[in-house]
Amino acid sequence: MLENENHRIAVIGAGPAGISAAVTAAELGIDVDWYDKADQIGGKLNDYYQLFPDRTSANKVLQEFDDQTGTARIHKHFGKAINHIRNDHGRLMLMSDQEAVGSADSVIVATGFDFFDARNKEEFGYGIYNQVITSPELEQKLRTNPDSLKIDGAAPANIAFVHCVGSRDQQIGINYCSRLCCVTGIKQAIEMREMFPSCRVVNFYIDIRAFGSGYEELYREAQEKHQVQFIRGRVSEASENQQHRIVLKAEDTLMGRPVKITVDWLVLLIGMVPSCTQVQVADHPCTDQETGFLKAANAFAGNRLAGQTGVFMAGACGGPMSIPEAAASGRAAAAEALQYLINR
Ligand SMILES: Cc1cc2nc3c(=O)[nH]c(=O)nc-3n(C[C@H](O)[C@H](O)[C@H](O)COP(=O)(O)OP(=O)(O)OC[C@H]3O[C@@H](n4cnc5c(N)ncnc54)[C@H](O)[C@@H]3O)c2cc1C
Ligand code: SF4
Repeated sequence: MLENENHRIAVIGAGPAGISAAVTAAELGIDVDWYDKADQIGGKLNDYYQLFPDRTSANKVLQEFDDQTGTARIHKHFGKAINHIRNDHGRLMLMSDQEAVGSADSVIVATGFDFFDARNKEEFGYGIYNQVITSPELEQKLRTNPDSLKIDGAAPANIAFVHCVGSRDQQIGINYCSRLCCVTGIKQAIEMREMFPSCRVVNFYIDIRAFGSGYEELYREAQEKHQVQFIRGRVSEASENQQHRIVLKAEDTLMGRPVKITVDWLVLLIGMVPSCTQVQVADHPCTDQETGFLKAANAFAGNRLAGQTGVFMAGACGGPMSIPEAAASGRAAAAEALQYLINR
């Protein structure tokens, strides 16, 4: 174990990745200074209703995470964003608005991601028509007020989902796939069919990427058990008719014909983009030029941040990933940070 018991690790971010990193480091016997710009733990978990693939309640998962964090080795400093890490002769200084708020021997950056701003895809009418919402907004509605999905007190008759909004789109310079929006759209389509059995639910996709364990099964369930309709095609435009319903124009690329449908809700499955409060680490470039997410020095070898000593990354600050993947990368980063402290 560590010869010098005074070693400290700082973890920046208290989403699933940061929680796992902080808890693992504490269990390995290291004192952890834990920072988050929010004043609560959970990150995006606070925004969700039920999690794919098995529809576990997000609150339950959050509670299970929270139960692990009450150890004396974890020192919480919440409500403050860390925007810069400065290397001062091997000591890593944590800066918030130009002011040093702490220091550490090793730092794990777990600052997560932002949701794509759907206003940048004007053709879908987000921010213009009230019935055009994003997938996290649908999660919020399901979590806090499902009745707000009714139209004049009655079940909606038609809902459409559009995949790949803000991902795989050369027009806006985002070429990568956000990996999790397909399964989010599949899960939310099932939830809509369960809540409103008379409602027609249609998902417009480019291709379905259901890569994770249980995702393909959920896709099959959506089609066979819940009769969710999947149309392969790009939506070109959304507009509002006189009855304040949304009219969608698309092309069914399998059938080779145009499609026009009118819906009560249009849900945009927005992608994951690099966090706007991403920490600047020293003066070295440590982001991927193509995607803007943080980049590992050697992705095959671990989580050490490109160009840095003693700084590791965990979770979706390194690119789109699921909660189990983010938690696993948090645990791995904690083990690597300990290894670094032992060997240095
Ligand atoms: C619509 C949608 C639905 C999803 N649903 C699921 C699901 O059902 N199941 C699943 O497995 N995955 C789901 N995901 C993926 C899931 O959101 C991520 O896997 C997870 O949030 C990644 O955790 P994280 O800790 O890396 O980041 P985050 O959850 O983003 O947490 C980052 C934390 O860092 C803090 N932070 C950021 N910047 C700073 C800073 N500068 N200083 C201090 N603190 C900072 C933030 O406040 C936040 O608490 C979904 C994704 C989307 C887009
Ligand atoms: S996961 Fe699906 S919806 Fe999301 S970007 Fe990839 S293909 Fe598009």
